Amino acid sequence: MTEVALFETLAAANRRLAEALAQAGREPAAARLLAVSKTKPALMVREAYRLGQRDFGENYLQEALEKQETLADLPEIVWHFIGPLQSNKSRAVAEHFAWLHSLDREKLARRLDEQRPAHLPPLNVCLQVNISDETTKAGVSLDDLPALAEVVVALPRLRLRGLMAIPAPTEGREAQREPYARLRQALEELRQRFPQAPLDTLSMGMSDDLEAAVAEGATWVRLGTAIFGARPKTPRA
Ligand SMILES: *Cc1c(COP(=O)(O)O)cnc(C)c1O
Repeated sequence: MTEVALFETLAAANRRLAEALAQAGREPAAARLLAVSKTKPALMVREAYRLGQRDFGENYLQEALEKQETLADLPEIVWHFIGPLQSNKSRAVAEHFAWLHSLDREKLARRLDEQRPAHLPPLNVCLQVNISDETTKAGVSLDDLPALAEVVVALPRLRLRGLMAIPAPTEGREAQREPYARLRQALEELRQRFPQAPLDTLSMGMSDDLEAAVAEGATWVRLGTAIFGARPKTPRA
């Protein structure tokens, strides 16, 4: 993708988010764009940063660490890890990211809490919920969510910010809103239960369903394709 194209796609993504927020009767700053830069080169991230984008989402640890090193001169860049995370790789996330959107089990939470360096603020975490209840997908079930939240709230080096979900793909705005409405409701219940936690975040909505997610209260929308273009089809380790 050329620089001109990135200028246009990023502006279009910001416009699309602004329109979705206005449509939903929400404040212009109520949701923010997380630019998902997985598989895309550091140079493209640098260009998006130059155009004003600050928050970037990565799925593949090794690739993300390499980009972070290359882009260490960008003072305001904020890195979010949004992919599946093996427990034995937790330290790199604890040391090199500001946010983790895909926390889904107690063991991983305890390791991250132990490994978060003292000189950094607590790691912001979202619990990933298996909202469409697909047996193959990552995420905690709605049934097990309160117990996991209780563990995470008590860990001093983690800040429980909210919930994340990747619903099964569906067509049509109303059908797309349904799982996001359930996620919003789940966050509301956690707020009642844990009033001491800063539960202000719903990480939901991607290139295909941003409007549905914003209508249900998304605060981070995670856009990859819409900003950086299509990714190679082959999955990466
Ligand atoms: C890849 C990815 C995205 C971005 O998806 P697009 O369809 O390219 O916008 C968002 N969230 C997660 C967790 C992802 O893995």
